[in-house]
Amino acid sequence: MQCTKCGNPKVIIKKEQSGQMLCKDCFIDSIEKKVIKTVKKEQLLDKGDKVLVALSGGKDSVTVLEILNSFRKRNIIDICAVTVDEGIDNYRQDGVDIAIRHAERLGIEHKVVSLKDTYGITLDEIMQKDNHKGSCTYCGVFRRTIINKAAREMGATKIATGHNLDDEVQAILMNYLEGNTNNLGKLGAKTESKAEEFTVKIKPLREIPEREIGLYVVAKELEVHFDSCPYAMQSFRGEVSQAINDLAENHPTIKYSTLRGYDKIKPLFKGEFKPNYSQGRCKRCGEPSSNELCKACSFLEELGV
Ligand SMILES: [Zn+2]
Ligand SMILES: [Zn+2]
Repeated sequence: MQCTKCGNPKVIIKKEQSGQMLCKDCFIDSIEKKVIKTVKKEQLLDKGDKVLVALSGGKDSVTVLEILNSFRKRNIIDICAVTVDEGIDNYRQDGVDIAIRHAERLGIEHKVVSLKDTYGITLDEIMQKDNHKGSCTYCGVFRRTIINKAAREMGATKIATGHNLDDEVQAILMNYLEGNTNNLGKLGAKTESKAEEFTVKIKPLREIPEREIGLYVVAKELEVHFDSCPYAMQSFRGEVSQAINDLAENHPTIKYSTLRGYDKIKPLFKGEFKPNYSQGRCKRCGEPSSNELCKACSFLEELGV
């Protein structure tokens, strides 16, 4: 068995979709080229952008930082990073420390923002409440609000997240399964938010399978936080993820075909179901919101915080 590209006998991966066998160097190269291809195809970056990387310290965000840094080294963009500390005992601190070390290593402006300092409550404390709606509901909304705010404060023109192929396919199927047509029009490599206060979000890893990102950080010897969130399996997303992976065992290309199919019908969704972008402002925190209270603040009121 030898590398399809260079003949090196030390193969580290057989690509699920193409069947290609690749050695370490050719694999690293293939991932970086594919991400750069996505960036170009989807026009994710403009010269002079200041990109805020949402850096958790996990494999996905560390990979985004690493690959976008190649654009920074060529003076095409500037990069800054924010890490959200949700307050999950025995889990989050390792990721925060790793994020700090990567930012220092690359010399990138970085800040850590905690749920506790911002909202006066940690995710662990929320999960002890009787009326909670599941960890991911809060985590997603609070994190998004904190990252948007950080982007404005740091003068970022784009926000880059570590969403990979698996994440994106899960989101597509979850929205179908829940009948959430409004959200279905909003997925994709780049958000097209109408509210000025929301910074455009980009997903450079959208076409890279999760498994390959795991292998990339190992091959590049990048320090990452590998533990998964202790709350992850309680979620609907966890169940959907399991179902897709079960199907992918006998049908190795379904993740790509789901993504391609979605991308083809997305324009129809957008025409038929106009996403409702925020118009007004939240009366409690002043963030952009289409209702009196933004999502984050309405959760806080429900929780009695
Ligand atoms: Zn090779
Ligand atoms: Zn609010």
